[in-house]
Amino acid sequence: MAGRDGKEPDQHWKRNVMDKHEDIAKALQSRLVELTGNVADIDTELRSSLPADWEEQATKLEDQDPLEGIEKSKLQEIGQIRAALQRIADGHYGVCVECGERIDPKRLKAQPTATRCIACAK
Ligand SMILES: [Zn+2]
Repeated sequence: MAGRDGKEPDQHWKRNVMDKHEDIAKALQSRLVELTGNVADIDTELRSSLPADWEEQATKLEDQDPLEGIEKSKLQEIGQIRAALQRIADGHYGVCVECGERIDPKRLKAQPTATRCIACAK
């Protein structure tokens, strides 16, 4: 019965990939929590301290434009992270949406929400 419980090399490789994605998923989830907190703070900031006078309100809203820009980019990142987590759940993560090739793990490490390989992203 020798070798009966020996692991297939292919399964071993797949397991390694799964583990890596698990790490990425964890990192993405904690980033998501952080971003959601940031956006909630910005929302509170944007909506709370509006002066009663409408003219003052307009000035105040103008001041808050940069804050809205920050909120927008954070919301965008939240969307990208959710999409990446969905791809991990679906098993499509790390595969280029253009050519179907595996995305370089180094690229994914630098940009975990990447949906295209380096060649297709150009
Ligand atoms: Zn590609």
